[in-house]
Amino acid sequence: MEVGVSLQRAIELTSQLTLAREDETIPLIMASGRTLFEDLRSMVDDPRFDNSAMDGWAVREADCKELGAILRIVGTSQAGSEEIPTVDAGEACRIMTGAPVPQGADAIVMVEDSTVVGDKVTIDGPARPGFIRWKGENLTRDTVALRAGTVLTPASVSLAATMGHANIRVVRKPNIAVIGVGDELTPPGEPLSESSIYESNTFGLSSLVERMGGTPRRLDLIRDSMDRLRETLDEAAASCDAILTSGGVSMGEWDMVRRIMEEEGDIRFWKVMIRPGGPPLFGSWRGKPIFGLPGNPVSSHIVFTVLVAPWMSSSMGSEDGTRPRLANRVRVEMEESLKGAPGKLCMRRISIRQEGDKLLGSTRTHQGSGNIHSMVAHNGLSLLPPDSDCQEGDTIDALWLI
Ligand code: AMP
Ligand code: MG
Repeated sequence: MEVGVSLQRAIELTSQLTLAREDETIPLIMASGRTLFEDLRSMVDDPRFDNSAMDGWAVREADCKELGAILRIVGTSQAGSEEIPTVDAGEACRIMTGAPVPQGADAIVMVEDSTVVGDKVTIDGPARPGFIRWKGENLTRDTVALRAGTVLTPASVSLAATMGHANIRVVRKPNIAVIGVGDELTPPGEPLSESSIYESNTFGLSSLVERMGGTPRRLDLIRDSMDRLRETLDEAAASCDAILTSGGVSMGEWDMVRRIMEEEGDIRFWKVMIRPGGPPLFGSWRGKPIFGLPGNPVSSHIVFTVLVAPWMSSSMGSEDGTRPRLANRVRVEMEESLKGAPGKLCMRRISIRQEGDKLLGSTRTHQGSGNIHSMVAHNGLSLLPPDSDCQEGDTIDALWLI
């Protein structure tokens, strides 16, 4: 077990334990946000046939060298029509956007550049081959246009449909157990005793799991019993792909997650040099990856964002460039000073706003790691390197939360 690792080292260590990568086939309409399990080949050429990019006239370019050419109208090519006239010398065929280019034609004149008189059309503008979209110019049949590991965006779902796929093989969503630990915790909706508080982390963490493409499974809250904790961890390991706990990982006597993991689990690291969120642990329980997240609501949220989220997406095999994430790294000019943390990467909540071509950062509420409102009132996190403060006007690295 390593104790007190840097965030970078923590990320390296988490990559040693990955999620089981299984597949399922789902209807394309459900596939946005999912990770492709296999390469997707096009079943067709795109475009399927030479077609017009404009409403206008399909002509022979050679007939239209001079403005004012008069051509005989031979018919119409509409999108979806099967019978298309051919175009011979001195002829023009009316054509709609997306309609097949008639045999014999090699250029399109825009409708705006024409005048129709009876069965003749006068060409008042250029005839352009460039207004023809050629068969296969976007994609040819059998080309792999979407690679395994791509996380499907709305545009890639549209491309998959263009390629003819009704159903898609994607990586199965991992089931992630979410377990709250603490004697004082009461679910919202139930009566509070003098010393209890509403439990919130399993709600926040479950939402984060969903955002990252997993299925959260909230299990029973664990109050004061090691036996209940063991049973629940066993149930989680048997039914889920990974386990998140919150609370019970710091130094206190009652910090049951750390104790049970020390005695019966396999801990890869404990404590990361970050603030807030110092005490997380990572390892495995009965063969399943487990993150013991801190109990403070802000800490658990931030540790999920910087540690669990990247682990989830890389562990699901998502391609780097397409991975879902909870934040973008940006440079922010601070409008006020920020205090860093000795020996730790300091992630203070900041508000990021765009002004001209700059991003400006400021703080709004107080920064206690128990104050989840601070995550709501701000949209970013500073990334102050260990032992460094920032002065008003300094430009710093930050995470802009999405
Ligand atoms: P712990 O890490 O268990 O020492 O908890 C640190 C702080 O977070 C304490 O103030 C707890 O009451 C609070 N806390 C722990 N778990 C939760 C939870 N699931 N929801 C809300 N607050 C929590
Ligand atoms: Mg506790």
